[in-house]
Amino acid sequence: MSRQKEGKRTGSTPAVPPPGGPACPLCAAPGGKPVSGRACRFFRCRRCGIVFNSAYRPLHYDERYFLDDYRNQYGKTYAEDRDAIRRLADARLKKILALHGRKPPHSALGLLDIGSALGFFMESARDAGIGRVRGVEISRYACDWCRRESGLQVANTPFENAEFDETFDIISAWYFIEHCEHPREVIERIYALLNPAGIFAFSAPSVFGPQFLFDRNGWVESHPEDHRIDFSPASAVRILKRMGFRAVMVRAAGMHPDRLVHRASPFYRPFSLLYGRVAPLLRFSDTIEVYARK
Ligand SMILES: [Zn+2]
Repeated sequence: MSRQKEGKRTGSTPAVPPPGGPACPLCAAPGGKPVSGRACRFFRCRRCGIVFNSAYRPLHYDERYFLDDYRNQYGKTYAEDRDAIRRLADARLKKILALHGRKPPHSALGLLDIGSALGFFMESARDAGIGRVRGVEISRYACDWCRRESGLQVANTPFENAEFDETFDIISAWYFIEHCEHPREVIERIYALLNPAGIFAFSAPSVFGPQFLFDRNGWVESHPEDHRIDFSPASAVRILKRMGFRAVMVRAAGMHPDRLVHRASPFYRPFSLLYGRVAPLLRFSDTIEVYARK
């Protein structure tokens, strides 16, 4: 479920971290370094390089995510945005299958989509001929929608509580990991559920992007309180390799030159052309996609 931009802050008082900064939720290194003088709830891990939120608080995910919140952000509901989401899903699946290296038919492959939302990525997998397509989704509204509209097999439970009697060749999690209170345990479980040479594909917010680097106060102010961690391309590679993945590819997922130069500026057009060429090479983006092979 694409909750990345949908988390809401409630204005609660940030938790006071212990002296020296709290421990990293991914690598457990103590003494995280504060990323802003204005607020002390975000820390960069000195060992693995992720940024984490010490005042993380999970939210209740219900139909408002797919209706009102999504419409407020994008001008239409999640279901109404199906065509654009399917195009993105098809492009992501193509990258996954290329990395996996298996030629069609894909009927022997099994795929699990964690945070499967209304099932559009699962539909893409099913249409590509993948034989076993499963989903896990915390929102009852989304699960009911899937069963009713597309007949997809989706378990209505948090991933942490889901039970599996099978393993998978592909596990995807689009804008999911950052919502997990214990991301290390979640990634370890995903690794265990993958077959040898299986692919873990996910998207997540990145701190190696224009908002974190050039608008730190805005980043702090708008950071959803239900986001526990933010990666950088380098930290994602480091962590996943340390956890056992053999190959990790990271790509920039969201290009927004207008966050650096105003659209009305005479410099906008030349800048956006340059940005469009350089940002993918540097993986400089507020969000990233990660493809890791076991
Ligand atoms: Zn760390």
